[in-house]
Amino acid sequence: DWRQLNQSNRMADHPVHSIFFFPLPAAGHVIPMVDAASVFASRGATATILSPDPAPQLLADRLRKARHSGHQIDLLLLRQAADGDVSGRRQPPFLASPAYSFDLFRDLEKRFAEPLEIALLRHRPSCLVSDMFLPWTADSARRLAVPRLVFQSMGFFPHCVIDAVERHAAEQRELGTWIGERLAVPGLPHRIEMKRSQLHDSAGLRTEFSEFFDRVAESGRASHGEVVNSFYELEAEYAEHYRRVMGRRAWHIGPVSLVHDTAGIAGAKEAAAILTWLDSKPTETVVYVCFGSMGRMSEAQMGEITAGLAAAGHPYIWVTGGEGEQRSIVEEQRSVVEEQRSGLGLVVRGWAPQAAILGHRAVGGFVTHCGWNSVMEAVSAGVPMATWPLFAEQFYNEALVVDVLRVGVRVGAEVWGMAEEEKPVVARANIAAAVAQLMEEERGSEERKRRAAEMGRKAREAVAVGGSSYSEVDQLMSELSRLQLERSQQNL
Ligand code: UDP
Repeated sequence: DWRQLNQSNRMADHPVHSIFFFPLPAAGHVIPMVDAASVFASRGATATILSPDPAPQLLADRLRKARHSGHQIDLLLLRQAADGDVSGRRQPPFLASPAYSFDLFRDLEKRFAEPLEIALLRHRPSCLVSDMFLPWTADSARRLAVPRLVFQSMGFFPHCVIDAVERHAAEQRELGTWIGERLAVPGLPHRIEMKRSQLHDSAGLRTEFSEFFDRVAESGRASHGEVVNSFYELEAEYAEHYRRVMGRRAWHIGPVSLVHDTAGIAGAKEAAAILTWLDSKPTETVVYVCFGSMGRMSEAQMGEITAGLAAAGHPYIWVTGGEGEQRSIVEEQRSVVEEQRSGLGLVVRGWAPQAAILGHRAVGGFVTHCGWNSVMEAVSAGVPMATWPLFAEQFYNEALVVDVLRVGVRVGAEVWGMAEEEKPVVARANIAAAVAQLMEEERGSEERKRRAAEMGRKAREAVAVGGSSYSEVDQLMSELSRLQLERSQQNL
């Protein structure tokens, strides 16, 4: 019982730490950050989430769910410097499309650096855990002498690959001359092959994006360390590479989603309808299809997915996001769930309770865009994947899933990019073939399933008492105690 643990830890080795968590307002960042806050709260810390005022609905929903699972997390709203706006009327800043990342990053710094510093001054937390994409928070924390930890919204492996690609590109000066069509990324523990078109588009270039990433890296070095939502057994060689070769100080504390008992999570009635539908299906027969909070497909691609899923013939749940303006809705209660006329599948226009779906016994495979959280949730649930990366670090995550962990099959996406209309369409035949490989014993699904189940077991062991992630949380809490002692001695 988390609450019991909470109390016994409080009496044990650590003073009560007050930890501030500042997520980037985007689904893939808020969700794991609230879960991370729950992990620390369950281990005796006082956890507070910072958010621009007004807080996004998703954050309010996640905090409610955390409380429902017994984790008491406080919310501290940062009021932006007065600009004549009436706070109640403002839209909460929230990232629903990758195209607006930079605007949001800039906007947050401009509006919330000062309120953050006031909050740190007033409350003097033991530490600030802030998102990797909020590099300016390192400066604020340093000014107020509060240790800052970076919250990594991705795992060790993609960081290692990006670092290797960038290093090699810098050595070779021209990415185009050495990369060819296929590249074995040099200097990594495994042979990882990527197509040139699958690398992030700023690879080896000086762009606005790469400059921002330089700033992220610099602020990482200026911080006390990093918190990573991963576990040692998942990517041991890369956890080592990250620390030893890349010289980073990191604590792995994941999978943070396992802090909840997904079966017990109360959701909206739309969410309950999906789970009831799953209850009626035999074990491991349903394919779950979702491209994260920002993945959007072109009309042509939507048609191919519909046809591909029908041709594969397995029951499915496909989360398409909302229509038009509403594409980004991240509220279960506004979702529309439609049963296909064929009776084969459910289409969810909006938001689905993903972790609960992946944890349902009826789900046997996941067609995923390979966002880090989705990968971690699938791994935690022991569900094998058909991989369909779109942008960000997703193609590197695909390589981890398919080539290193061997718990996935590629659907066949070849081009990194944020504009789906500009990409080649993945044909229905490829989609149907990947789903067949994922789900059918005669197409080799058994071994993959076995490995995925084994990885799921290791994930649960990692977060259980004495496990690798559990111990890292202990070590991090001791480190905070040491820092606190150091600070109080300096003040004497
Ligand atoms: N998610 C969800 N329901 C949806 C779509 C996404 O619960 O309909 C959650 C998913 O479980 C994960 C997060 O949103 O925790 C998406 O993060 P990820 O890193 O996979 O992808 P991103 O959205 O950042 O591209």
